[in-house]
Amino acid sequence: MRIGQGYDVHRLCEGRRLVLGGVEIPWEKGLLGHSDADVLTHAVMDALLGAAALGDIGMHFPDTDEAYRGISSIGLLQHVGALLAENGYLIENIDSTIIAQRPRLLPYREQMAENLARALKLEPGQVSVKATTEEGLGFTGSGEGIAAQAVALLSSIADLTFDDRSERSGCAGCPGCGTRNQDSSL
Ligand code: MG
Repeated sequence: MRIGQGYDVHRLCEGRRLVLGGVEIPWEKGLLGHSDADVLTHAVMDALLGAAALGDIGMHFPDTDEAYRGISSIGLLQHVGALLAENGYLIENIDSTIIAQRPRLLPYREQMAENLARALKLEPGQVSVKATTEEGLGFTGSGEGIAAQAVALLSSIADLTFDDRSERSGCAGCPGCGTRNQDSSL
């Protein structure tokens, strides 16, 4: 098992769309950024890349590259999912939190989780999206920006291969798997 965490912040400003977890939310302001500035999806991508020790989104999708201007972050998340699969990782679950004073995000949470899960070919129950405020404190409290945090748990295909694991570590001498293999009644 491998764990990763991601954190991101984007500034709120007028004249931009507010996109969170691939959901466009009607609001007087939106998030400023090179892509669609989907701060939740960015935090999720960094958690996944971090868990796999495969760098960060700035490395994979630099904001100096015109190819990523205005791009959907959900599309970038699909790339991250493919990268993990290529490297032999399975996603166990993702938990995330959006930190915003306004707007109220409860009505959109389910759709955000669904969008993230679909982009990563996961079941809906493997992705959690939560939202909180900071009680009016700090830059989220003043409405200057929105932050997001995420954690992700990965397993490696190598960890799931019985023969490989037994050769490497012998499961600390535990006879469980080998015994079950020899005698299905156990
Ligand atoms: Mg970002």
